[in-house]
Amino acid sequence: RVLVGNKVSEGHVNYAAAYYMLTGIRVSVSRCNAKVDHELTDEDFSARHKLAFDISGNELIPSSKYDFKFKDYSPWVFRHLRELFKLDPADYLMSLTSKYIVSELSSPGKSGSFFYFSRDYRFIIKTIHHSEHKMLRKILKDYYYHVKNNPDTLISQFYGLHRVKLPFGKKIHFIVMNNLFPPHHDLHRTYDLKGSSLGREFVPKHSSSSSHVLKDINWLKNNESLKLGPVKAKKFIDQLEKDVALLKRLNIMDYSLLIGIHDKKVGDSKRQSLYMFEPDTSGMNASALRKAVNSTSPTEVNTVDLLADTFGQRDLYFYNDDGGFQATDANNEPLTEIYYLGVIDCLTPYTFYKRVETFWKGLSHTRSTISAIPAVEYGDRFFHFMKRVIKKESGQDNDHNNHNTA
Ligand code: ATP
Ligand code: CA
Ligand code: CA
Repeated sequence: RVLVGNKVSEGHVNYAAAYYMLTGIRVSVSRCNAKVDHELTDEDFSARHKLAFDISGNELIPSSKYDFKFKDYSPWVFRHLRELFKLDPADYLMSLTSKYIVSELSSPGKSGSFFYFSRDYRFIIKTIHHSEHKMLRKILKDYYYHVKNNPDTLISQFYGLHRVKLPFGKKIHFIVMNNLFPPHHDLHRTYDLKGSSLGREFVPKHSSSSSHVLKDINWLKNNESLKLGPVKAKKFIDQLEKDVALLKRLNIMDYSLLIGIHDKKVGDSKRQSLYMFEPDTSGMNASALRKAVNSTSPTEVNTVDLLADTFGQRDLYFYNDDGGFQATDANNEPLTEIYYLGVIDCLTPYTFYKRVETFWKGLSHTRSTISAIPAVEYGDRFFHFMKRVIKKESGQDNDHNNHNTA
C-alpha cells in the first residue's frame, strides 16, 4: 500500500469517477477562491453547494453523454483550512486538476475505500464511507478550531469534502487530504501503529518486498524507535496529546499513527516508481495522446527535482525537514533518519463499531453498557503506546522512566 499506484487514465474502470471528482473540485474550488474572503460564519459550516455538470461532447470522454452531479461541502471552511495549512490556492488546483495522470492505490483497504494520488503526489483523494462523511460534517467546527489553535497538528489535514453522484445514482463521498509520504525519497520502513497488539502484525508472504506497511507487533519485534532529542520529543508528545484529546472528545477511534522512515545513510534507489508520471498511452485516442505527451514528458531526474521542490515546503513543524520530521540526538542535532508521520484514518465514529459489536455479541451484553468510553480507552491506549515509540536521545536509555538510572 505504499506509493504504489496504477495510473488512472482513459480506459481505466475508475477513470470516469476520477474525472468527475477532479472536474468537480476544479470548478467548485476555483469558484470559491474567486470570491472576496470573509470571516467564517455558522452557515459556512453547514453549507453545501450543488453543481450539475453536463459533460456530453467532452473530448476526454467522447463516448460518454452522461451528466453528473457534484456536491461541495463547507467550501469556505475548507478554503480557510487550506490557508491554515499554508497551501497555495493556485498550487492546489494545479495539482488536482491535471487531467491525465492520477494514480490509484492498487489495493483498497478493508474499508473498501479507494485512494487516488494527485499527479504530483502531494494530495490524496480517499473515498469514504457515508458514516465518515457524516462524522466530518459533525466535527468540522471542532476540527477547524483545533487546527486554528494547533497549526502543527499531526491529525490528517483535510482540504475538501465532496460528493459525486454518478449517472446511475451511486453516490461517492470523498475527502482530499495531505499525502504524508514523500514522492522524492524511498521509505525504508513503514508502520501503521494503533497501540494495540490484537491482529497487529504484518506477516509477509514474500520477505523481499519493502513496500508493505508493518504494524505494532512488527515495531516491537524490530526494536524500532523514533530517535528524538529533548526538543523534538517534547513537541511531538505535546502535540499528540492534544490531538488525541480532541479525538477522544469527538468519540472517534480506529485511527493510527502512520510512520514512514527514510534513512539518508541508505539513500534512494533509482526511482523506478516514478514511471507513473510518464503519460500512460494505453487506451488513449490519438489526440488525447498527443496532448498528454506534449504536456508531460519529464525525464526521471526532472520529475524527482520537481517533486522535491513542491513537497513539504510549507513551514509546518512536523513536515519541514525535506517534507518530514528529522531525527535528532541528545543535543538536538540532526541524525540521518527522516520520519514522515501523522495520524490517519480518523473519521471512524465509535457507533460504527457499536453496531458491529452489538451484532456479534447479540443480547449477552446490555446495550446501555456500551457507551462512548471505548473512544477514550482507545485514545489512552494509543497515546500510551506512542509515548514509548520515542527513544529519547537524552543520554539515557529507552525509557520514559527517567529516574530508573541505577
Ligand atoms: P482500514 O479502515 O481497513 O484501516 P482505510 O481504507 O480506512 O482502511 P487507511 O487506514 O486510511 O485506509 O489507510 C490505509 C493505508 O493507506 C495506510 O496504512 C497507508 O499506507 C496509506 N495511507 C492512508 N492515508 C495516508 C496518507 N495521508 N499519507 C500516506 N499514506 C496514507
Ligand atoms: Ca486504518
Ligand atoms: Ca478506516
